[in-house]
Amino acid sequence: MLIDQDYTRETLVRLVQINSINPTLVPGVPGEREISIFIAASLQSSGLEVDRFEPEPGRISVVGRLRGTGGGRSLMFNAHCDTVDVAGMAEPFSGALRDGKIYGRGSYDMKGSLAAQMAAARAVAGARVQLRGDVLVAAVADEEYGSLGTADLVQHVKVDGAIVTEPTALEVCLAHKGYLWIEVEVTGRAAHGSKFNLGIDANMKMGQFLAKLSDLERDLRTRKPHPLVGPPSLHAAILRGGAGLSTYAPSSTLQIERRTVPGETESQAVAEIQSIANKLASEDPDFHATVRPFFVRDPFEVAPSAAIVQSLDRAIAKVRGKPAAHIGDTPWMDSALLQAAGVETVVCGTTGAGAHANEEWVELESVYKLAEILAEAAIDYCA
Ligand SMILES: [Zn+2]
Repeated sequence: MLIDQDYTRETLVRLVQINSINPTLVPGVPGEREISIFIAASLQSSGLEVDRFEPEPGRISVVGRLRGTGGGRSLMFNAHCDTVDVAGMAEPFSGALRDGKIYGRGSYDMKGSLAAQMAAARAVAGARVQLRGDVLVAAVADEEYGSLGTADLVQHVKVDGAIVTEPTALEVCLAHKGYLWIEVEVTGRAAHGSKFNLGIDANMKMGQFLAKLSDLERDLRTRKPHPLVGPPSLHAAILRGGAGLSTYAPSSTLQIERRTVPGETESQAVAEIQSIANKLASEDPDFHATVRPFFVRDPFEVAPSAAIVQSLDRAIAKVRGKPAAHIGDTPWMDSALLQAAGVETVVCGTTGAGAHANEEWVELESVYKLAEILAEAAIDYCA
């Protein structure tokens, strides 16, 4: 499958040059508005039908569709078009090419992969192969904060398979971790600092809770690790407590992040933390705590035998001349939302470095290779 390298490179440079910082992370920035206009026009020029989805004002996802003749499996390439902040970067929007690398915010995470998706669909459209299934190119909003884009898309766009193109150095990612945010509030009793007989010190009680939580944290990391993503973990991320120096702390609040691995459930992870609170309360009548989960993102896993994985494996073997490695990754991705919506999903993207860092680049050759891999995978899966 022949990829138009000039189109791919020029598209990538332009994508990097357009500011698409997530406006929830940095208030006042343009968000996906400007980049969505560029992407839509480019997909149209390749012969795709284009739809826009706007779950909140200005938060725009673009979906291009190359319509099949009917009866085949449909496949979505999924990349986010928002980025994190550019503070501290010397050349956030340069898109400069040096030593085979394109530099700038989002080049690696993940405009390189987005350009490859657009080039792959253009190649399939131009080759005039008769696929039965539809090939879709999704450029989604807000992955870097709340995943508004993909969460909205799975309600409106039905597909059989998806390739999320977060960077994997062209290997095949079959699993990633999930996470869970849990708030623990320990309540004490406010009293004047001199009245030890009246006060109950919520911060001291939280100390007891933290000691037990530390035991749990060590226990998690000694559990049998998931073969691709390793063991679960947790950390005591944010701690707040007390009302003043001469006051017994009436309350102490801890926000915990618990990283889950495929096979673990939210209720099981919460129950482990609740049982610490229960045990302390049974030993100490002055210990009062509530445990409240307030945000969850599920882990992701797909079987190597899934049709989408098999198609991608064949495409990579063809393009790279060697079989892909099956890997796991630790950060959460939109793949979990697609999989949960009944879309068989796998992750494969470019090579580079510097996601969320001060210097970010993507290897241009890997962008070309990814485009070729995606085109071959679509021909295989949607035939
Ligand atoms: Zn990303």
